[in-house]
Amino acid sequence: MAGKVYLETFGCQMNELDSELVTGQLRALGYRFTPDAHQADVVLYNTCSVREHAEQKVWSRLGELAIRKATDPGLVVGVLGCMAEREGGALMKRMPVVDLMVGPAELDKLPALLDNALRTRASLLADGRVLGEAGEGGVRRLTSAGQVALAGSSSRRSSTLAAAGDQLEMLDLSRAVSPDDHSGSAYVRITRGCNKFCTYCVVPHTRGAEVHRPPEHIVDECKRLADAGVVEVTLLGQTVNHYRFEHGAQVSVGGVVQPQKGRVYKRTDEHTDAYAGQNVTTFAGLLRRIHEEVPGILRLRFVTSYPRSFGNDVLEVIRASPRVCRYLHVPAQSGSDRLLSMMNRGYSVGEYLEFLDRARAFLHEPELGRPLTVAGDIIVGFPSETEADHEATKALLLRTRYKNCFIFKYSSRPGTVAHEKLADDVPEDVKRRRNGELLEVQNRVSAEVSAEYLGREVTAFVQGVSRREQKKTKRAESLAKAVAVNGAGIGAVALTISASARGDVRARAAEVAGDGADACSVHGAHTEADAGVSAGPVQMSARTDGDLIVLFDAHAGDAAGMIGQIVRVRIESTTALALHGAMAGQG
Ligand code: SAM
Ligand code: SF4
Repeated sequence: MAGKVYLETFGCQMNELDSELVTGQLRALGYRFTPDAHQADVVLYNTCSVREHAEQKVWSRLGELAIRKATDPGLVVGVLGCMAEREGGALMKRMPVVDLMVGPAELDKLPALLDNALRTRASLLADGRVLGEAGEGGVRRLTSAGQVALAGSSSRRSSTLAAAGDQLEMLDLSRAVSPDDHSGSAYVRITRGCNKFCTYCVVPHTRGAEVHRPPEHIVDECKRLADAGVVEVTLLGQTVNHYRFEHGAQVSVGGVVQPQKGRVYKRTDEHTDAYAGQNVTTFAGLLRRIHEEVPGILRLRFVTSYPRSFGNDVLEVIRASPRVCRYLHVPAQSGSDRLLSMMNRGYSVGEYLEFLDRARAFLHEPELGRPLTVAGDIIVGFPSETEADHEATKALLLRTRYKNCFIFKYSSRPGTVAHEKLADDVPEDVKRRRNGELLEVQNRVSAEVSAEYLGREVTAFVQGVSRREQKKTKRAESLAKAVAVNGAGIGAVALTISASARGDVRARAAEVAGDGADACSVHGAHTEADAGVSAGPVQMSARTDGDLIVLFDAHAGDAAGMIGQIVRVRIESTTALALHGAMAGQG
């Protein structure tokens, strides 16, 4: 039983990838997708619980759907991801509009649950019956009126059971890779879950224990993506550099090698790839394999790195591999040793800086056109943070010289150690002020880092039209709609946007000029305007190897063809946020 689905994704890249996989699965079963929630029979939210703010957005969306459902009882509403895992049945009680919930560790079950929910809805509508049959496997919880919930990670299942039964690997393996359905860039998961238990973080509770995917599966996925024309791959994991897969211990289910839980091996040398007596693929080995075996991937990057135990083996592979980007996203979280210890990060500020200095010594070669860029994360207003701690974090930002830094106000998350044991005692106005001060420092640093590119030529991967251009599109669409409604006789410029499942924007610009409403149509998603008609320049957004944003103008007729390509851009001016330049040729 298939319906029209609207899927909205909140939060991180891991969620974007999950949404892409879920979309592929549902499409294969005949579901169609719509970018307009009002047109959908099924509304799914893939949620994030890392900060309270992200959850609030979902609560407010669900509130709106409750109003709609009063007049549209056939609507099926599903909550996927971290909120489903964290809130469990409480979410359904608070929001009876929700028909189904699936935690991140059970996403492979979504098609069956959705089919069930649609049938249930249909039968309820037909005769008002309320279902309440028994669940299966101990993880299925039935609530009132046919609601179904699946969770799984919170129990942090034993490694043997999880390895044998982890059908999630099947979801990654089932990824549909089509030449027509990507923007030249793709995420590939290498590790699920997290074992670090930083005291503020909900991820180990919602995504479960660390599971490393078999390298064969990862390399094969990269090959399939490259064959379909993908040129940029970002490897995903919460602590990618701690990837390790022990060969010979894997379990085979249905002929497919299953992933295994992370194990801790004793390194024979703090900064090398050597593990005493073990046949292990480490992160360095994995990077090397992908680089060697998949030459079609022109850019290989990875997020997120963990500052502890980042071996020279990885740095050496990056240095020796021209297609591995010299970019590290390696969150420090704080510049205060006292707070780092309370956060359970397992390193000191000194150790963090030692790592950055080592990484730069290996990889920062601006004179060869290969600089290393670094990005960070900081949490501001962690419990008990003093002005002295805050000053230490400011000093850290000056020392680390990140190209950009994500600064988050501390959000106390139920279930975490910090929530249970530490008072959220930094007042909101103090958090806000400190946040502003850190942003100011970082902006100055970012502007200086950008300025180093002035007058240089960079190669950049074209992601789509710039945000400025997207806003212009929206205005043009509204204008065209108004024209269509009013039948006014003026021309309008329409940009056709086709958003891929990842949310990348592809656009084709076409000037739709005419005398009446008929000529002022706005094309729906996934249509391609047959350009040929020239328009003014379109501002394109691209990324350097080091993940700096590059903005340049392209001729409207060339814009669509450039997306997913690597181009050369000469940098003419810079700001803290971006490099601005003119195209100098194809990469
Ligand atoms: N695994 C990555 C690491 O440890 O570096 C980060 C993953 S986490 C999902 C992304 C970022 O969210 C973290 O680096 C942290 O800065 C921020 N974060 C996590 N929990 C938070 C909380 N309770 N309040 C504010 N920010 C938080
Ligand atoms: Fe959260 Fe820490 Fe794991 Fe990152 S390493 S996902 S911050 S617990």
